[in-house]
Amino acid sequence: MATFGTLSDRLTQTFSALRTKGKLSPADVDKTVREIRRALLDADVALPVVKDFTSTVRERALGDEVNKALNPAQQVVQIVNEELVAILGGEQRRLEFAKNPPTVIMLAGLQGAGKTTLAGKLAKWLKAQGHTPLLVAADLQRPNAVTQLQVVGEQAGAAVFAPEPGNGIGDPVRVAKDAVQFARTRLHDVVIVDTAGRLGVDAELMKQASNIRKAVDPDEVLFVIDAMIGQDAVATAQAFQEGVDFTGVVLSKLDGDARGGAALSVASVTGRPIMFASTGEGLDDFEPFHPDRMASRILD
Ligand code: GDP
Repeated sequence: MATFGTLSDRLTQTFSALRTKGKLSPADVDKTVREIRRALLDADVALPVVKDFTSTVRERALGDEVNKALNPAQQVVQIVNEELVAILGGEQRRLEFAKNPPTVIMLAGLQGAGKTTLAGKLAKWLKAQGHTPLLVAADLQRPNAVTQLQVVGEQAGAAVFAPEPGNGIGDPVRVAKDAVQFARTRLHDVVIVDTAGRLGVDAELMKQASNIRKAVDPDEVLFVIDAMIGQDAVATAQAFQEGVDFTGVVLSKLDGDARGGAALSVASVTGRPIMFASTGEGLDDFEPFHPDRMASRILD
C-alpha cells in the first residue's frame, strides 16, 4: 500500500532524530510536535483532526509517562502510535449481523467511489464464510449500473436482484423492499443494497438514499469513500452522515498514491469506524480494517 508512504517517511525521520537524545526537553517535544503537524497537514489530514491529534500528543509527551521513561523517544513513538489508533477508530469493528436474517447492508457514497465493486467484494468475502448473500441493484440512475452489478455478482458467485421491466422499474425504494422480501423467502441471509451516487453530493439522491434506508431499516449502512479524495473527504463524509447516518466507513482505492488524509480524517470527524479497506479492482483486493495494524504500518 503506497498510500502512507510520504507520511510514514516523514514521521520516521522525525523519530529517528529524536532517538539520539536521552532526556527530552520541552523544546524537543515542541519541535517533534511541529514536525508531526506539518507531516499530517501535507498528507491532507483535516485541520481540526490535526489540531486535536497534535495537542493530545504534546500534552502526553510533556507528561510523566515520557519524563520517567527509560527511553523517552521510544515512549513518544508509542504515544503517537496509540493516538493514531484512536483517530482511526480504536478497536476493530466487525459487521453486525441481524438476529433475524436477512442482515441488510446498504452501500452509499459518491459515484465512482467503488460501491458496486465493494458489493462484489463483500459478497465474495461473505460467501467464503458460509453466508448466502443477495446483491440488490438499487442504483437505477446510471443505465449500466444494473449490468455492472450483475457482472460482479457473477464473479462473486452471488445472486443479483434487479428490477424487472414493468415491476416498479425506476423506483429504487421499491426494488430494495422487494429484494428484502425475496431474500426472506429464498433464504439469503445477507442482502447488500447498492445505491446510486452522483459526482457531487446531491440533495435529491441523498433523499433517495435516505428513503431506501427508512424502507429497509438496514443493520449496517456503509459509506464508501475513495481515499484519493483528499481534502474533500471531511465535507463529503459529513454530508453523507447527515443524509443517511451511516454506521461504518469503507476506504476504497487504498492501493493508489493518495496521501492518506481521508483515512486519517473521516473516522475521527464522523465518529464512525472504518470497517473495511479496498485495495484494488479485483474482488479479492479487500480486507477488514484494523486500526492498530494501519497505525503500525504508518509508523513502520
Ligand atoms: P461506484 O460508482 O461507487 O459503484 O464505483 P465502482 O464500483 O463502479 O468503481 C469505480 C471505479 O473504481 C471502477 O473502475 C473500479 O474498478 C474502480 N475501483 C473500485 N474500488 C477500487 C480500489 O479499491 N482500487 C482501485 N484501484 N480501483 C477501484
